[in-house]
Amino acid sequence: MAPTLHGATPRYDAGLQQVGEGVWAWIQPNGDWGEANAGLVRGTGASAVIDTLWDRTLAREMMTAYAPHLAGAPIDLAINTHSDGDHWWGNAELPDGIEIVTSDASLTAMHAEPGPGELGRMGALSRRLGPVPGPLRGMARYVGAMLEPFDFRDVILRFPTRTFSGTLDLQVGGWRLSLLEVGPAHTPGDLVVHVPDAGVVFAADILFVDATPVMWAGPVEGWIAALDRLLGLDADTFVGGHGPVTDRAGVQALRDYWEWLTSIVAREHAIGRSPMDAARIATRDAEFARFGTWVRPERMLISVTTIHRALSGKKPVGHSPVVRGRLFADVATLGRELDAERQ
Ligand SMILES: [Zn+2]
Repeated sequence: MAPTLHGATPRYDAGLQQVGEGVWAWIQPNGDWGEANAGLVRGTGASAVIDTLWDRTLAREMMTAYAPHLAGAPIDLAINTHSDGDHWWGNAELPDGIEIVTSDASLTAMHAEPGPGELGRMGALSRRLGPVPGPLRGMARYVGAMLEPFDFRDVILRFPTRTFSGTLDLQVGGWRLSLLEVGPAHTPGDLVVHVPDAGVVFAADILFVDATPVMWAGPVEGWIAALDRLLGLDADTFVGGHGPVTDRAGVQALRDYWEWLTSIVAREHAIGRSPMDAARIATRDAEFARFGTWVRPERMLISVTTIHRALSGKKPVGHSPVVRGRLFADVATLGRELDAERQ
């Protein structure tokens, strides 16, 4: 098996995976940074796609794999599940003129997020600073490695053409696609796509599987409610935004993670500990044996910070490069500490 985008040994199969009659997931192991999943629903005479990955090379490769399934049923609808670039920056590879749907809140966030030019510059700067000794070294190495597999130079942002809030039912080639806005949780405008007649849900980044979730927006209560909503749907197959295809047990596992993490952060916040110390304490908790094997356990610090800030009545960290840079410096430190303990 070819290594993952980040050069790791894949823990499960990559590429197109059929999850129902006429329904496929596009899977990028191991659910590390930017290793996002997507989906295809082929109907009679028309098809729909869900998400388009982080850069044009990845999007093109996915479209090439979709092509044999699109004979007589071209793509005439795309859905973007949320505002993170690894789920929609490949939109330029979609057929011209088709409708692209997302939530109102996601479209607003897409316009507010740093664009491909900024991310490209951040990657280049990180690669330059990585070898230089000093306080920025750990952060620069981490962010440099995070962005390394992706090429943002020729990304052309193509924004969604139709938005909604709440729920929206769409018909594509005889399929009903039920779009449910469940954010804010991972991001401000998360939505999931339920295909009731196939028993499949494309849950995007509301569902990380064997991969540590990242909560930028919160609140965590909203994320837990979103997972409960998934568990209440008539479906047995769940395609998360990162990680392998799963069943209801996979949804429940993430719910367990949030319950566990929230209780630790609430306890440590109450006695005045910082997010970093709360995260360190969580990694020494007995339950961590269950969650520490998920890809990138150090990403926990981002979610701990969001929960901790909410408990202090503060907003999420936002987009400031300085604030995010400081947070990534601590994420890198926690990652190094966990690596050292594993050896
Ligand atoms: Zn993602």
